[in-house]
Amino acid sequence: MKYKRILLKLSGESLMGKQNYGIDTERLNDYARQIKEVHEMGIQIGIVIGGGNIFRGLTGAGKGFDRVKGDQMGMCATVINSLALSSALGALGVKTKVLTAIRMEPIGEFYTKWKAIEAMEAGYVCIFSAGTGSPYFTTDTGSSLRGIEIEADVMLKGTRVDGVYTADPEKDPTAKKFSEITFDEIYTRNLKVMDLTATTMCKENGLPIYVFNMDIVGNLKRVINGEDIGTLVHN
Ligand code: UDP
Repeated sequence: MKYKRILLKLSGESLMGKQNYGIDTERLNDYARQIKEVHEMGIQIGIVIGGGNIFRGLTGAGKGFDRVKGDQMGMCATVINSLALSSALGALGVKTKVLTAIRMEPIGEFYTKWKAIEAMEAGYVCIFSAGTGSPYFTTDTGSSLRGIEIEADVMLKGTRVDGVYTADPEKDPTAKKFSEITFDEIYTRNLKVMDLTATTMCKENGLPIYVFNMDIVGNLKRVINGEDIGTLVHN
């Protein structure tokens, strides 16, 4: 197996599935089944899930919300998604622990690195919710931070595209996919893998990112087995 401990980043937006808002239970259960599959392989798993299917601070600010309050609403949205994922995993018999970056017991335990590592070593899937706990950040930054803290071997970024392309493949049919690419090239080619804050954290702390399409069932396991289905971003 390629990795022992992973940080899996799931986008909130993907959780909408075919809907245009909220949580599509079919997609949620697909994710849960994929996670269970790799959990059974003995992989230690930490998960960060976005909140864009419910609320985004920036969008809120555009509609007149105070930015900080909007971001706090976005962080609450990630907690809702985390609870949904925890529930779906629980229904499949997978033990989970929801940790929160903002105190909100009994919804989840307040995050510390050691609590997380101890839980993962005891076989719990840890779901890190509320991002970094601070406004002006994203869940991509939250997952970079948690991935680095928990000493993950890699951040697996599950998206709806199957890797990093020379241009947006949904807009440019001539776009070519990279099998691997360095962080420096991400900057020089101005590619959007994650926001720059999140990308720079990974670069400076040597956490590689593997971008792959999580919406195809079975792909998470393929990545763990070392199949070349996405793009590896590294130093
Ligand atoms: N957010 C924040 N701080 C964080 C993480 C998230 O303020 O550390 C807020 C921010 O408003 C963001 C929202 O939560 O728009 C949802 O997260 P994100 O947009 O990253 O979710 P995704 O786009 O992956 O669905």
